[in-house]
Amino acid sequence: MKQGKLFVVSGPSGTGKGTVCGRILDDRENTIYSVSMTTREPREGEEDGKEYFFTDKEKFLKMIDDGELLEHAQVYGQHYGTPKAFVADMLKNGKNVILELDVQGAMSVRKEDPDAVLIFILPPSVAELERRISGRGTESPESKARRLSEAINEISCADKYDYIVINDDLDKAVEEVKAIMTAEQLKVTESSAGVIEKYKEES
Ligand code: ADP
Ligand code: 5GP
Repeated sequence: MKQGKLFVVSGPSGTGKGTVCGRILDDRENTIYSVSMTTREPREGEEDGKEYFFTDKEKFLKMIDDGELLEHAQVYGQHYGTPKAFVADMLKNGKNVILELDVQGAMSVRKEDPDAVLIFILPPSVAELERRISGRGTESPESKARRLSEAINEISCADKYDYIVINDDLDKAVEEVKAIMTAEQLKVTESSAGVIEKYKEES
C-alpha cells in the first residue's frame, strides 16, 4: 500500500489555519487531522480529543521522556506536541495526515521526514490578522497581545516553507491548499515504479 503523506500547516494565530484545515477535512477523503497534546486551557466550546488533548505539564513532560511525541514546542508560553504513534499508523495505512504546527514544530518534522510538505498560511495584512483574532473572541487581552507580537517573527519564517497561501478569500485559500495536496500526491516517488510496472506487464 502506498504510504500516506504528511502535510504541515503553519501561520500566525488568527490567520485561519483551523478554518482552512476544517474545510479540507470535510471535503477530502483519505485525509486526517492529527490532534495535538497541549497544556493550554481549553477555550469555550473546545472538546478534549477534538481540537486538542488537554493535559498538564507533568504528563506532557513524561510523554516527551517516553518518546511518545513526534515533535513538541513551547508556543505562547504553553507546551504543544504531536502524538507519534497515531501519525505513524495513519501514514502506514495510506492516509494523508495534516499537522497544524508552529514554525519550530514544522522544522522538527522536516528533519524527521524530509518528504513532509510544509504550507504557510499568511493573512492578507497584519490589520486583518488583528481583526480576526479579536473577532474570534477567544483570547484575553494579554493572550491577544502576545499572539500579535509573535506574528511578525512567525511570518518572517514563511520562506522556509514549500508553499505560501494567502488566506484572503477563504474559498480560494481552501482550493489552493487542496491543489497543493493533489499535486504532491501525484509526484513521482519510489512507489511510482509499481504503477509503471503494471503497464509493462500488460504489454
Ligand atoms: P487560526 O487557526 O490560524 O488561529 P482560525 O481558523 O481560528 O485561525 O481563524 C481566526 C478567525 O478568522 C475565525 O473567527 C475565522 O472564522 C476567521 N477567518 C478565517 N479565515 C477567514 C477569511 N478568509 N476571511 C475572514 N475571516 C476568516
Ligand atoms: P492555539 O493555542 O491558538 O490553538 O495554537 C497556538 C499555536 O500552537 C499555533 O501556532 C499552532 O499551530 C501551534 N500548535 C498546535 N499544536 C501544535 C503541536 O502539536 N506542535 C507544535 N509545535 N505547535 C502546535
